[in-house]
Amino acid sequence: MSGWRRLNIGIVGGGIGGMSVAIALRRAGHIVTIYERSDFAGEVGASVSCAANGTRWLHEWGVDVAKGDPVVLRKLINRDWKTGEPVSVYDLGDYEERWGYVYNMFHRQYMHAMLNDSALGEGEGHPATLKVDHRCRDIDLITNTITFENGVLAQHDLIVGADGIGSAVRGILGIKPEKKPADSSCLHTNISTEEAVRLGLVDYSQDNALEYWGGQEGKWDKIVLSPCNGGKLLSYYCFFPREQGDYSTQSWGADERPVEELLQPYPALDRQVFDHLAIGKEIKPWRLWVHNPYPYIHRGRVCLLGDAGHPMMPHQSQGACMAIEDAAALGILLSPRYFDGDVSQALAVYEEVRLPRATRVQAAAAKAAYNINERIGFSFNKDIPTYKVEDPKKVLTIEEMNAYDMYQDVEEKLAAKRHAAYTDKFICGLPVGLELPNGITIGD
Ligand SMILES: Cc1cc2nc3c(=O)[nH]c(=O)nc-3n(C[C@H](O)[C@H](O)[C@H](O)COP(=O)(O)OP(=O)(O)OC[C@H]3O[C@@H](n4cnc5c(N)ncnc54)[C@H](O)[C@@H]3O)c2cc1C
Repeated sequence: MSGWRRLNIGIVGGGIGGMSVAIALRRAGHIVTIYERSDFAGEVGASVSCAANGTRWLHEWGVDVAKGDPVVLRKLINRDWKTGEPVSVYDLGDYEERWGYVYNMFHRQYMHAMLNDSALGEGEGHPATLKVDHRCRDIDLITNTITFENGVLAQHDLIVGADGIGSAVRGILGIKPEKKPADSSCLHTNISTEEAVRLGLVDYSQDNALEYWGGQEGKWDKIVLSPCNGGKLLSYYCFFPREQGDYSTQSWGADERPVEELLQPYPALDRQVFDHLAIGKEIKPWRLWVHNPYPYIHRGRVCLLGDAGHPMMPHQSQGACMAIEDAAALGILLSPRYFDGDVSQALAVYEEVRLPRATRVQAAAAKAAYNINERIGFSFNKDIPTYKVEDPKKVLTIEEMNAYDMYQDVEEKLAAKRHAAYTDKFICGLPVGLELPNGITIGD
């Protein structure tokens, strides 16, 4: 594209989103600096899932996925709360064949290290620079200069706010989140597979599955088990009604909680998984807030990415994937093929591409909090006796997530901005004629 120029880009926040966008932007030919408030010593030990819509970008960017030591998921299993018997199973056996990429379950620290290597190490483009202990305090939106709490100033052609759910950049852009504490609370715990097996407990790692107990009938009680580190670690998210324990003001740095507190809400839970929780380590609250969608995610030459721009409940396991997709969108828009030098236009298209899709996932994640049938995958299993959803035509499905072509979405929206023709048979990145399992056909 004529007019392409190399930008000097500042990224506030070096989490999963910040590292991903650094990779995408360095590969697009730009000079990238990441500013992170912490020194990463406190990274959380928990799983993070990366479905095909996230995994595809890791491969496109040449990330060494094996370094993340993932578990490749073969199934989603929803179990009966009391007996542990499977109620709804979504088989991922043909997932890679259908979508081209696997469904990975990473450990956060491993995933972060893997992205770190690709952002800062050898590879296409200039390696990004990471500056730790740089907490963003303010941004002058006229000069595009960041002020950090340590007194440093940094001016950039473009600034990406990837500073998470408590984003400072978001406030600087004038967005005041409408938010409320979730009706459910969550405690997270880690269990070593080796220890569970030594004690004669079930070896859930053999299932290679994301497993859920409960989550049906409008109840908040739900246990989510995700194996990571090649199956050596079992990461459990344990949800229960907020009246039984309110952690809405706690953060990840909070002290560990005693195991009795973890077990207390679950007197009737399947004993096999209960016995796992009873040996849980590193029991920590996960603060849950529901944010309404924001009206915009950019102003001038500053934009938001990941949780800063669209924080979502964890119940679709898409938070990290949405951050990765945001990164991919910026990488495409600022690549030599599409960028004509107009940063404001690129960010306007970024917002048009990203906000509707992330908002759709955000809404579906809030619904899946109390009804697992709304969760991508299970939303397809209509034949089970307990299947009930709010509006069958609105459920989010794997097809919508994975048949999405971001290049087409970008081209359609860029063409509209540039008053050019767009003739490919896609609408918002989905192929015209695609029949979704919820009965919707794209283009009808
Ligand atoms: C325990 C846990 C488990 C999760 N499990 C899943 C899962 O299974 N699947 C999934 O899809 N998602 C999961 N998520 C959510 C997912 O991790 C996030 O959606 C995703 O990481 C978004 O990344 P982010 O980069 O936007 O935000 P974050 O990962 O929160 O990163 C933000 C970064 O910005 C830094 N920062 C903050 N403020 C400033 C500032 N003022 N100046 C400079 N730096 C700043 C922070 O220190 C941090 O490093 C989980 C989250 C947690 C906490």
